[in-house]
Amino acid sequence: MGNVAVGGDAPISVQSMTTTKTADVDGTLAQIYALAAAGADIVRCTCNEQAAAEGLARIVPRSPVPIVADVHFHYEMALAALEAGVHGLRLNPGNLRKPEEIKLVASEAKDRGVPIRIGVNAGSLHPDLYKRFGGATPEALVESALQELAYFAEVDFDDVKISVKASSVPLMIEAYRLASETFDYPLHLGVTEAGPPPAGLLKGTAGIATLLAEGIGDTIRYSLTADPVEEARAGRQLLEALGLRERKGLDLIACPSCGRAEIDVIAVAKAAQGALEERNLPIQVAVMGCVVNGPGEAREADLGIAAGRKRGHLFIKGKIVRVVPEDEMVSALVEEAERLVAEGVEARLAAADSGAEAQAEADRRELLDHQGADANASETKVELIRKRLGE
Ligand code: SF4
Repeated sequence: MGNVAVGGDAPISVQSMTTTKTADVDGTLAQIYALAAAGADIVRCTCNEQAAAEGLARIVPRSPVPIVADVHFHYEMALAALEAGVHGLRLNPGNLRKPEEIKLVASEAKDRGVPIRIGVNAGSLHPDLYKRFGGATPEALVESALQELAYFAEVDFDDVKISVKASSVPLMIEAYRLASETFDYPLHLGVTEAGPPPAGLLKGTAGIATLLAEGIGDTIRYSLTADPVEEARAGRQLLEALGLRERKGLDLIACPSCGRAEIDVIAVAKAAQGALEERNLPIQVAVMGCVVNGPGEAREADLGIAAGRKRGHLFIKGKIVRVVPEDEMVSALVEEAERLVAEGVEARLAAADSGAEAQAEADRRELLDHQGADANASETKVELIRKRLGE
């Protein structure tokens, strides 16, 4: 797909779709750039009318990522999109049904070396298949793709990706499992019409992550009722979380907080996230509520800060490098994050303040003395319960 490989050993790619009118060239390009910056490798634009196709002719040469034209009812729009120079087409077999038209599009795509996604959707399944299978079953979705492939085969075209999306997560998972057994083509994963976040994000993740963990899927798209930048960001973050793509942006981890917390972890984590995201540094940063457990629990993080006795304890890979006043925690964290990215872990460990580790140890001990080992007072509560119940 343009300069992005999809399938085989290629990295799983992230897709999203513009929400602008494709005829609005500048508006659409601005959104494509925002999507690419958020992690989209491939962007799809609707091609539903002549003005959209003309827009694509101006958008494609200026886009930072490959562009796919989304075509539903009118095969002429697919031909016009090919004329515009798109890198890929998406055809919905449920909406574009005439064999002669499908074959004509496939044959033109073949001549131009443009791949096509057979984009089956449970909500717009061909009515004949719906009847034959008694509904939008996994078998019906896969059969729809098989029929389209048969038309393509008649013109000797097989440069395809396949998707069998549904808004029901269990249906989508079953359909893709069947598709992966049936086809040897790249699969484009997605839960369609997942709705607004956070529920939409959860549905998308439930479906996409389950399949990716089974080794199924080559390219993914979250379908959210939200700014599409959120789709691209979610796609990228999911792949990074699963270790399927290298970290490109910030990964902020924070402890859930507990009775030992010496700060408002939620507020500090939010402030740190805001400040660090602006700088888009490719590191994992931890915000931990206490120095008793924080540096140890987050020792895998590149950088972190843990609170204790009105101080912030900055640590790199679990080693304390600096102790700062509590109200400077966020600014110190951001400064260290920038230096860490610029200079590397070894250099920043070598530049650690002498005495920082000892200061942290003293604070840790002081907190343990003060809070005891049972900071959440669980044992005291258990005693009270036993007394009350007469044990
Ligand atoms: S023990 Fe410390 S680091 Fe762990 S959850 Fe509680 S406050 Fe956070």
